[in-house]
Amino acid sequence: MSLASIFSHAAENRPLTAAEVRALLDVGPEQLPEMLSLARELARLAFGRTVSLCAIVNAKSGSCPEDCAFCAQSAHGRADAPCYALVDLEKVVEAARQARAAGARRFSVVLSGTRPNPGEFAILVDMVRAISALGLAADTSPGILDREELAALQEAGLSGYHHNLETARSFFPQICTTHAYDEDVAAVAAARDLGLYVCSGGIFGLGETWEQRAEFLLELRALGVDSVPVNFLNPIPGTPLEHRPVLDPSDARKILALARFILPRAAIRVCGGRPRVFGNKVLPVLSSGASGLMIGDYLTTPGADPARDLREVAAAGLEPG
Ligand code: SF4
Repeated sequence: MSLASIFSHAAENRPLTAAEVRALLDVGPEQLPEMLSLARELARLAFGRTVSLCAIVNAKSGSCPEDCAFCAQSAHGRADAPCYALVDLEKVVEAARQARAAGARRFSVVLSGTRPNPGEFAILVDMVRAISALGLAADTSPGILDREELAALQEAGLSGYHHNLETARSFFPQICTTHAYDEDVAAVAAARDLGLYVCSGGIFGLGETWEQRAEFLLELRALGVDSVPVNFLNPIPGTPLEHRPVLDPSDARKILALARFILPRAAIRVCGGRPRVFGNKVLPVLSSGASGLMIGDYLTTPGADPARDLREVAAAGLEPG
């Protein structure tokens, strides 16, 4: 089966067959440049020359009761992550202003924890209202919410709900044991049903197989997500995955291309782990099918310099949008 025929199915946004997915997984070093080039063309067909830039503020950090094995914020690990309660509204608004000045169009308030308590939720509603008033798309990543909570945030101006499934259903029990995969799926489905912009992806390089990478991406496709944040493991000392190797850049590029083929119309955003895998280069990311970047710092690790990212985007002949 030729990559060109798989490309033509993906370009029409048709779900790939199992044989087509298998053929993509079997791509070796000789065929990889062709796969990357076709993935880049799929991104161009869907998004033109536009690169979507987003930024986050870690509004509540650490002490999380969940046991996600990659995460420095889990209370189950020994990682030395910042630990603080929900910050003031003013601090979030100032971070949103700075992100807007740096070129971000979307801005997300991220909270550690399974879900916000009622007091935190009320403050989050105010934060969403204030970010929206700045002219930014107001997003949040607050953990697992139900339909009523999502509707209340939508009423306050919420544009997007971010909640990662993290990895494949079949691999999830090796990564997190404190809640069920279906709780995450239900929250994402509720947001989608309300018409919110749904951003849901996860993290690669945790020890999952290539088949599980495809399984994960197919689950996101079935959920109809708008945006897929792709994180690459940055093994943090004190987490259970501290000794895992960082992904090889060519594997990371193949993951991005695979995501683009399976979800040809979704925004594929490269987020955490980018500097660990690619250094400060942006071109390898944007020439592998990605259509967006998180700029600025990540939750617990520093990001690349936003001004440098913008220069690299321009040098690639692309523009923020
Ligand atoms: S990924 Fe989120 S839910 Fe999991 S431990 Fe980290 S902060 Fe908690």
